[in-house]
Formats: sequence, C-alpha cells, structure tokens
Amino acid sequence: MRPLVAGNWKMNGLGESLGELSALKAALAQNPPACEVLICPPATLIARAVQTVGAGPGAFAIGGQDCHARDHGAFTGDISAAMLKDAGASAVILGHSERRQSHGETDADVAAKAVAAWGAGLKAVICIGETLAQREAGTQDAVCGGQITGSVPQGATAANTVLAYEPVWAIGTGKTPTPDQIAAMHGHIRACLLARLGEGGRVIPILYGGSVKPDNAAQILNLPDVGGALVGGASLKARDFLAILAGVNQSA
Ligand code: PEP
Repeated sequence: MRPLVAGNWKMNGLGESLGELSALKAALAQNPPACEVLICPPATLIARAVQTVGAGPGAFAIGGQDCHARDHGAFTGDISAAMLKDAGASAVILGHSERRQSHGETDADVAAKAVAAWGAGLKAVICIGETLAQREAGTQDAVCGGQITGSVPQGATAANTVLAYEPVWAIGTGKTPTPDQIAAMHGHIRACLLARLGEGGRVIPILYGGSVKPDNAAQILNLPDVGGALVGGASLKARDFLAILAGVNQSA
C-alpha cells in the first residue's frame, strides 16, 4: 500500500492560504509523489480547498479535523461527518491529543465519531499517543493499547481507517522519539490491532506524527510498520511539506 502523508493545519489558515494549496498542487503535478497526500485545513476552508486542489493533475485529498458523532441536531458550533463529506472532504482526523486534552474527548467519544465518519463515507484518521509523564513512567504501551481498544471500533478496515501514533510530547515541540522508540511502538500498535481486529488489523496503515520535518522524514518513513506521517506545523507551507514528500520519495 502507498504511504499516506497527511497535513493537519489545526486552527490556521485564511482564504489567502489557499495559495499554498495551489502551489502544492502545481508542484505535485510536475513531480508526482510516491504517496497519498491529504491536507486537513480548518472547516471554513474545506469546500474552497476541494475546489482548488480536488481534481486534475497534482490533485490531492482534503479532510476535516474533527466531526460530531451525530448526523445533525442541536449541537451549536459542531460539524457532522455528513457535512464534511458534503463539503468535499474524504477523511477526518479524530481523537487528536489537542481535542482529547482541551475538549475532554474520551476514547468512547472518538469511537462514536469514527462510526459516524464511516457512515458518511469518510476515512477516519484515529490519533493515539502517550504524554511525557506516561512515557517517563514506562506506561506508553499500556496507554496506547488502551486507546486502541477504546477508540478503534470493530469494523475498522484498511479502507475506512488509518491510525496515527502521535506521542503528545513530540507534537509541536521539535522533539521526536528515537527511531527505535518509533519502531517499537508501531510494532506494539500492530500487535494491538491484530488482537482487536484479527487479520484485518495487519493492513491498517499506522502513521507517525510529532515534529516530522524535512530532515527526519525519510528516516522515519523507512521504519518498519510506519505507513506514513501526520504533519502539523510543517504542512502549512507548500515548500516545507514538499520537502517532506521528497523524503517519502527517497524512502520509496
Ligand atoms: C500534529 O499536531 O498532528 C502534529 C504532528 O504536529 P507537529 O508536526 O507540528 O508536531
């Protein structure tokens, strides 16, 4: 399966940022990447982003950063999976540590959102990862295993789900785990997916996320069981993101 490199713009981006997406598309048309590309801008930009980059040479996928578990209703400020789909999204990030921390999202919330995403025809990019305190206490395997049990519903397949391992202490900090730590955790996640989903768990892609940059992308993407990357800060500028995609080409 081709790797997936996904960008998470978080709460960044105005209409003028669509120029970065146009630049990315033009570059990908010239030099097609050795991976699937997904950019998740803020919800306000999804429809325009799809119009900008959704078709033609260099086209790539656009996704959301969260969805509500319900289809519609009295949930002021929330966005349903069906609405993301209607805007042209094909995937949605769920359970990002920033939402788990600042919005109190639980594993059960994330699982319900994943089911909603599938129902709307979106791929769920389910995020898990331990905090620094949990890593220092040596509980990272148990933490991530528990998040998989709680957040990845039965019915997850390679067609509808991607897992993203994002150690919380590596997000936006410039710190990355060692290659051995990443490989060990991805191996553990694979074992957990197999235990939870049976043979289907063998093919669900596992992305690494947390301070992926042009200078470490090729090394990380070459590690066993790393099926791509989830990129925050370095996805905002086409030039930086293209340099990461070049790392994928090197590792292909
Ligand atoms: C993220 O927020 O998903 C992320 C990986 O951020 P960064 O690449 O900036 O560490």
